Amino acid sequence: MALIVQKYGGTSVGDVERIKNVARRIKGMVDEGNRIVVVVSARSGVTNDLIARAKAITPNPDEREMDRLLACGEQETIALMAMALESMGQKAVSRTGAQAGLFTDSLHTKARIVKITGGDILEKLDEGYVVIVAGFQGVNELGEVTTLGRGGSDLSAIAIAASINADICQIYTDVDGVYTADPRIVKKARKIPVISYDELFEMASSGSKVMQARSVEFARKYGVVFEVRSSFNNEPGTIVKLEVPSLESLVVSGVAVDKNQTKVTLSELPDQPGVAAEIFESLGKAGIMVDMIVQNIGRGGKANLTFTVAKDDASKAEQILNEVSGKLGCKVSLTGDIAKVSVVGIGMRSHSGVAGTFFKALAKENINVQMITTSEIKIAVAIDLADADVAANLLHEAFGLDGDK
Ligand code: ADP
Ligand code: ASP
Ligand code: MG
Repeated sequence: MALIVQKYGGTSVGDVERIKNVARRIKGMVDEGNRIVVVVSARSGVTNDLIARAKAITPNPDEREMDRLLACGEQETIALMAMALESMGQKAVSRTGAQAGLFTDSLHTKARIVKITGGDILEKLDEGYVVIVAGFQGVNELGEVTTLGRGGSDLSAIAIAASINADICQIYTDVDGVYTADPRIVKKARKIPVISYDELFEMASSGSKVMQARSVEFARKYGVVFEVRSSFNNEPGTIVKLEVPSLESLVVSGVAVDKNQTKVTLSELPDQPGVAAEIFESLGKAGIMVDMIVQNIGRGGKANLTFTVAKDDASKAEQILNEVSGKLGCKVSLTGDIAKVSVVGIGMRSHSGVAGTFFKALAKENINVQMITTSEIKIAVAIDLADADVAANLLHEAFGLDGDK
């Protein structure tokens, strides 16, 4: 008998039939003697739809109101899932993030967890209930609803698993596990049976949306071993944990593509100390993360600074930079016409020649590189959006990741 936290993503609860299928799966596991906490996302498309409605009213909606709105998606699915289980004769009760004691700071739309108590989850399990918790949402110290950033139901599940000391945390989604690349983009991608937190974190923060990056970071910090698997079959998925025996020959374990980036260029900036600090501080204060940064050599006392931000943050960034540019006398321009393509692998630490293989693969199709960043286990480039899928396939092949399919 195990204590299991299961998370079902948007596609897995996408309509009433799918909700009933998931409920059947859960009931089967309860009948085998397991105690189950379920974390659900909004139906697929619902969160995007709510964002689109808000943006149709105003380009920069108030973030407190935004969270109030976005939290609705998950509240629909917890209630429907509880009804589906009850209709099969299984006791079930729904809980909001606040009721599950998921406390966050007040950084609306990307709040960070400060404490998680679990509320009455364990008592309800003891009474024979399946407890269904709304993913993606929490509550701040003022009692205001907050959300945990896109894909945040993954984080809710991992945090709840940590707080109740679950035996297993399972992330059910619409793919069989973590692949060497997004199987929608790279047809020859292969399923990875076991992956380390570090590698999955780099892949997720480089754009592989199979797991929210923050949830992987949280799992690593609290030692939550989890499995990513499909809600549509019974195939074993991908186990994510700390230590993974690495094959010496495997330099790269995956390729990631991020099409949700915007490139920001500030031209004719005064080439003086303190200017970059002023720009990045003002973005940081607004909770905007900056990714790749390139500054060209100053000429005639002027320089250009280029960097990327998430597309979701672009209009907020533009508003802030327009204020700063007035003061600094520079020009601001933004384009969403770029993508970031990365290769990730712990093996890079001990192998040379990775950069050579990387750039040779892109050169083969004349793909022009606009920006480059590296870490100990990653090389990432910004390229034209139109080249992204071709680049991902070329790199996948060049690093020997192609499967037989
Ligand atoms: P959910 O709604 O269940 O949270 P997501 O849509 O957030 O599901 O994540 C699953 C999707 O992630 C897959 O359908 C797949 O297209 C995409 N994906 C991106 N990179 C990878 C990868 N390396 N392995 C598996 N899936 C990936
Ligand atoms: N519904 C939220 C989103 O679409 C959270 C999630 O699906 O994990 O981002
Ligand atoms: Mg997701």
